[in-house]
Amino acid sequence: MARTISRRSATPTASQYTPEPETDDEATERTASARRHPARTPSQNKRDTSTSSATGGWGGYNAEKKKGGKSYGDPLKVSTKAQIIAFLQSDPFAVYREHWIAGEGRQSYTCHGTEKDAKGKEVNICPLCEVDQKKPALRVLFNVVDFSDGDPKVVVLRAGVQLSDLIYDWAQNDKSSPIDRFGDPDGKPDLYWSIKRLEKQTGGRTKYDYFITPVKDRDLDEWDIEPLTAEERDALMANLFTAETQVRIDPVEDLEELADGLAA
Ligand SMILES: [Zn+2]
Repeated sequence: MARTISRRSATPTASQYTPEPETDDEATERTASARRHPARTPSQNKRDTSTSSATGGWGGYNAEKKKGGKSYGDPLKVSTKAQIIAFLQSDPFAVYREHWIAGEGRQSYTCHGTEKDAKGKEVNICPLCEVDQKKPALRVLFNVVDFSDGDPKVVVLRAGVQLSDLIYDWAQNDKSSPIDRFGDPDGKPDLYWSIKRLEKQTGGRTKYDYFITPVKDRDLDEWDIEPLTAEERDALMANLFTAETQVRIDPVEDLEELADGLAA
């Protein structure tokens, strides 16, 4: 269930994690198939963290981006109608690359990327990179507050490169940082954000352009939204998502098996 806090009782919902109201079709499909095929996830409990390539923070984002690869369309479901969100952290909580393997069952696999070899040279250790025609897409995850259902709740904003670049730019600007500004000691206004995306068809493919701009707390009434109270914010902060729950990393051996099957 959603990590909603009720504005009536102001009591946080103590909920067990289930993937959040997905903000995109791809992700919805993804979680749905994960639920349908629990048996296909033999390695769920033995995550290979030693080669985990999901890292948080802008440092992680820039490091991943520098490695190249392109994003082939953001799966994030933000509509053409602007909506208000608030960031709960100044940085993304996970940055990783995703292989999208079309077919039955599960389709999303985290890329293992590269590792330094004995000579300090970066070598690719991801079996799926060998068989996937496309480069794995960069995925950047943020904990944000969604106000669209009335009561504020924590959801995961899944961003690709285009949207992440916009957020990163705002995060570098004094006037709009930190992006999760709340209760600033110098009295700077709390920050909320309006986000939307426009769709365009180019060469038979759908592309999305994301837009995100800061909104000061005092301007929220134009959106018919009450600013968060400190208590509400604290309750939401207690429900943050983490890379551990949001980014599944399969052992390399499992990916090798999958890659062998795809190559066969
Ligand atoms: Zn890969």
